[in-house]
Amino acid sequence: IEQTAFQNDKLAMLGKIAAAIAHEIRNPLTSIRGFIQLLKPYLESIGKQEYVRIILSEIDRANDIIFEFLNSSKPSAPMKRKLTVAELVKETILLTESEAHMKGCELKFEIYDSDISVAIDVKQIKQVLLNIVKNAIDAIQAREDGRQGLIELSARKDGKYALVRIRDNGQGMDRATLTRLFDPFFTTKEAGTGLGLSVSYRIVRNHGGMIEVQSTPGDGTEFIIYLPLVEERE
Ligand code: ADP
Repeated sequence: IEQTAFQNDKLAMLGKIAAAIAHEIRNPLTSIRGFIQLLKPYLESIGKQEYVRIILSEIDRANDIIFEFLNSSKPSAPMKRKLTVAELVKETILLTESEAHMKGCELKFEIYDSDISVAIDVKQIKQVLLNIVKNAIDAIQAREDGRQGLIELSARKDGKYALVRIRDNGQGMDRATLTRLFDPFFTTKEAGTGLGLSVSYRIVRNHGGMIEVQSTPGDGTEFIIYLPLVEERE
């Protein structure tokens, strides 16, 4: 995690560019989407339904990228509020449980120091946890050996930090992927944006924390998020 400074500069710059052009790109995309919808019956009548499907899904992908970028390029000073790590983990479970179950993954959580608190922008940090859990679900689905998918969340105190761990038994990552996973636009998925983790990285850094990753190909991945604890004063 030493590449931090450079990474942050690069992301800040990309964020500014994105904010400036995203709206301008979105409008034409919306009108292209509308006109394709109008042409749909005609294109289908001449047997080109596959083209319609590809055009629409590519437009939607472009929109997803813009949406995620707009999200990440908003003024990044977090709006902090104090809450316990237990609350944060439970909310994340609540948000992701149904998708995980639908996709055949079991979600478990364990909280060791339930009274520890962090001062965070809840919306931003929830987005980080959501991104990581969704990646875990994808990694489990990418396995082909039929092993029961399992995602474990845990939280505990470690020195001046609260540690939130998210561990999956998905397909894992090779070294090449591990070294690039926080790069903007780096993705190994057909319909991925490659933005989830670069945005997450920036959010956590802006909170004075950090993200660590360990992974074994074929076996699983563990993300550890460090967030500074709120200093309790007597
Ligand atoms: P996206 O999910 O759109 O690809 P991300 O930035 O969230 O973008 O992730 C980047 C890449 O990191 C993914 O494409 C995948 O290769 C890898 N990755 C992230 N999380 C995991 C995980 N839990 N298991 C395996 N690979 C992962």
